[in-house]
Amino acid sequence: MSLQEINARIANAETAAGRPAGSVKLIAVSKVQPNERVRDVLDQGHRCFGENRVQEAAGKWPGFNAQYSDIDLHLIGPLQTNKARQAMELFSTIHSVDRPKLAKTLARLAQEVGTCPDLFIQVNTGEEEQKAGILPDDADTFIAECRALDLPIHGLMCIPPVDEEPSLHFALLAKIAGRNGLQGLSMGMSGDFEKAIALGATHVRVGSAIFGERVKPEG
Ligand SMILES: *Cc1c(COP(=O)(O)O)cnc(C)c1O
Repeated sequence: MSLQEINARIANAETAAGRPAGSVKLIAVSKVQPNERVRDVLDQGHRCFGENRVQEAAGKWPGFNAQYSDIDLHLIGPLQTNKARQAMELFSTIHSVDRPKLAKTLARLAQEVGTCPDLFIQVNTGEEEQKAGILPDDADTFIAECRALDLPIHGLMCIPPVDEEPSLHFALLAKIAGRNGLQGLSMGMSGDFEKAIALGATHVRVGSAIFGERVKPEG
């Protein structure tokens, strides 16, 4: 599917939900995609991209940054504390703040560097063993903890379980954000971004629908 088609579907979903045009940001998820596919999307004028691994992003994006201006890079995958400094240099936004230790590290580095990326707290809405994210019952406390650390918490992020109706998870995320006064909702991927927009997504993370199937396993 072309970038243009995805943008049109986002615009339709915004209208259908009675939301202003342009209220949803499209993060083109370029992880493990070959450079020529990424370049093709850059050449169409798109500038907002998502990567799930710091190492991969560090190898791929400095080259593109030298050739294209205003690239806006988002980290959407788990972050190890020993890569936090590098992540803060590479990314405008980190969607995967998921534990107190990481929050404390980011806060310390933010003090030291004087700036901090926009942050989203990842919530494990499906309470899945293998998935990162704070549990829904612990979210309010963790949000307060991050705020006490002066972290710029912009919103919440979730990845629903593959075998469940995603709308239930999007609604839960929106509810937690609402009662905590958070505006940002990072939710919705290739298969369900329209449902996410209907439930208030401000950031959708779309990979394969733009770039085609990922050619390498995610490792
Ligand atoms: C890979 C990935 C996506 C994009 O998935 P698609 O189904 O290809 O759109 C979105 N969010 C996260 C966190 C991902 O890791």
